[in-house]
Amino acid sequence: MAPTAHSPNVLLYEGAIRSVERLIQEHAASHIFLVVDEDAYRFSGADDTLKSLLANLHTTRFCGFQPNPKLVDIQRGVSLFRANPPELVIAIGGGTAIDLGKLIGFIGPQNEASREIVTGNKIGTVDALPMIAIPTTAGTGSEATHFAVAYIGTDKYSVAHPSMLPAHAVIDPRLTHSLPGPITAATGLDAFCQAIESIWAVGATDESIEYASTAVECAYQYLQISVKTPTPESRLAMSRASHLAGKAINISKTTAPHALSYILTSKYKVPHGFAVAMTLSKFLAFNAAIDANECVDSRGHEDVCKRILRIVSLLGATSIAEACRLIDSLAVSIGCPTSLVDLGITRQEQLSEIAASVNVQRMSNNPRKINHSMIVQLLSQDFPADLARL
Ligand SMILES: [Zn+2]
Repeated sequence: MAPTAHSPNVLLYEGAIRSVERLIQEHAASHIFLVVDEDAYRFSGADDTLKSLLANLHTTRFCGFQPNPKLVDIQRGVSLFRANPPELVIAIGGGTAIDLGKLIGFIGPQNEASREIVTGNKIGTVDALPMIAIPTTAGTGSEATHFAVAYIGTDKYSVAHPSMLPAHAVIDPRLTHSLPGPITAATGLDAFCQAIESIWAVGATDESIEYASTAVECAYQYLQISVKTPTPESRLAMSRASHLAGKAINISKTTAPHALSYILTSKYKVPHGFAVAMTLSKFLAFNAAIDANECVDSRGHEDVCKRILRIVSLLGATSIAEACRLIDSLAVSIGCPTSLVDLGITRQEQLSEIAASVNVQRMSNNPRKINHSMIVQLLSQDFPADLARL
């Protein structure tokens, strides 16, 4: 069955990477465009399985890109792609590699410049090339979504098209076994936050809530173990949580903590998952206090509250305050910065700049209406009393 915008063909088990040879044969591809995060490729052990296979195929290899997809890297990849058009894309690595694979595989076949598509000035009219996504982290769930992030300077863009959903997601938890603790922590927190945001998102459906709920439970139970004393069981659980959170946000999209995170990553160099987790509990408390006047979701504020209580119970908490504490202590226990002050953010102008950076569309997917001054006020909770002169 052909994959739809909601469903790639998924192989999720230890040893799944051995199926790549069969998938390439199924596509009868004679020329493959490889997007490879070389460190991840080597350290994950993916090269042990794929090296000899890929050596016998006609490939164009794109590597050496910066973390978080940048326009210059997209342009370089698209030039390579157009110089000798391939028939299949394979992306191996974390969220950056997979997002770059999706972007290059989509922009490559168009007649427009990369910048025009990334900024949304022009819309792609041709479908993306089929892609096999092989994640080497358990975090972004990018292999399960039909959109990708791109940066021009510190400005963040999102490119979306149904055909950008990878045709195949090959998720082999063994590729994550050698991930260092800090990467396991940041990527795993991304999955956890994506799942929680997905449940309260305006775009949530019954289907996305089911995926997200399982992801929350799995990540909450296994993330700390995966960081501190990883076992094959915890790695498998986090791979599953990451993929399900990806499936959930593929439907619901993300909300306020993601909208605020991008500037923390681009300007303050905070890894994506940590940047999102830094405001998650604040928004849990903020969204839980929703009333009819501030509700953006057409299902009404009571429905939003019901979903937020579902999050509380998935965490094993009995109150919003307890759920917030549990989220914060999980984040702290695996090395996430606890406060904006830790990042050198101590002035109200900086909060104002962060608040001004948010994408209005992404923010409108947050169930409770929020404006600039409310964001500043929420973020200023991190300031000690002497700094918070608001
Ligand atoms: Zn994310």
